[in-house]
Amino acid sequence: MHHFQYRENELYAEEVPVRRIARKVGTPFYLYSAATLRRHYRVFDQAFKTLPHLVCYAVKANSNLAVLRLLAREGAGADIVSGGELFRALKAGIPAEKIVFSGVGKTAREIRLALKAGILMFNVESLEELKSIARIARKMKKKAPIAIRVNPDVNPKTHPYISTGLKENKFGLDVETAFKAYQLAKEDPYLEIVGIDCHIGSQLTQLSPFVEALRRIKAFLKRLATVGISVRYLDLGGGLGIVYGEEEPPPPEKYAQALIEELNGLSVTLILEPGRVLVGNAGILVTKVLYYKETPAKKFLIVDAGMNDLLRPAFYQAYHEIIPVLKKERPSIVADVVGPICETGDFLARERELPLVKPGELLAVMSAGAYGFVMASNYNSRPRPAEVMVNGEEFYVVRRRETYAKLVAGEKIPPFLG
Ligand SMILES: *Cc1c(COP(=O)(O)O)cnc(C)c1O
Repeated sequence: MHHFQYRENELYAEEVPVRRIARKVGTPFYLYSAATLRRHYRVFDQAFKTLPHLVCYAVKANSNLAVLRLLAREGAGADIVSGGELFRALKAGIPAEKIVFSGVGKTAREIRLALKAGILMFNVESLEELKSIARIARKMKKKAPIAIRVNPDVNPKTHPYISTGLKENKFGLDVETAFKAYQLAKEDPYLEIVGIDCHIGSQLTQLSPFVEALRRIKAFLKRLATVGISVRYLDLGGGLGIVYGEEEPPPPEKYAQALIEELNGLSVTLILEPGRVLVGNAGILVTKVLYYKETPAKKFLIVDAGMNDLLRPAFYQAYHEIIPVLKKERPSIVADVVGPICETGDFLARERELPLVKPGELLAVMSAGAYGFVMASNYNSRPRPAEVMVNGEEFYVVRRRETYAKLVAGEKIPPFLG
């Protein structure tokens, strides 16, 4: 469910015609719907209402301050993976005591900043990191709250690049090492064991891998209990998939139901780290058609958004639905939708059946709210696009389009080059 719908053949975002926004801000731009974000958060949060739980939004999916503030107002916490995300989450008003810190490469500086802020817990991803946290906590005379990220070796049945809970992935600790980590942590006066964590992958469309991971965590908790270790928080990560095309992911209610059944009897606060499922379908990318090009082999629609704006098709061969902002009677073609970047991998869609839209017309790339702008780059010296948020009848530019001046703002020609 989202609030990007046609009204008399014209695409609207909530109460605003998408065309109107394009006239004001130019193209390409990301467009987010506040009503959709709120709805998604509430549906997800409500699904777990029978349990003590905390929804820690995975900031990396979409870290715009306006998105973070909206979710903060709804009561969300945050799952962060860098000092930059900590900065954003705090700035947006997410309280430190609702922030969990994941990621395999936390630096000493990031650990210090998080300890100083007073986050809920570190999701620790190696023995070396555990020792690092302990050392820094000792120096700061603070007790660091930790959870060990367990790699449960479960196949999430998703794209290999977004699978994270297999034993060959770089994430988390295998159960034997995790057990050792908990025993080490128990002995350290500067570490406080508060939780256990796992996150097995992204864009999961089946429940069984989540349930399997939870079973393995439960078995592991039993083993920890035998050595007198218990936890307050059970963090199951994120990963619930969304509809891009033909997928049929379980709705949050079904996901919650399966987890709640499995948790029966455990007295823990459940932490969830949804990213994509909250923001994915709450955003679109609006782009303008520049040229229609026919070669002897193929047809191309060349648009003004490329892989530097939306990387997912190039990076994961991801599918995004593409629809015209104005619906009209038009012949249909099968074409590649490509950007201006000088790379063969620069495409938004391949061999796609589309109406033959004319240069100057607008297309909407759907389901672009997650892993969209956050992965944008300046490749080919293209300024990153604007981000806009619609709320009812109003819209706000929540991130200006970059300028050419901004592109070179940090660069300097050294004196020896005159
Ligand atoms: C990326 C990530 C998430 C969010 O994943 P989604 O598939 O967007 O829900 C949650 N937790 C961790 C540790 C992550 O790395």
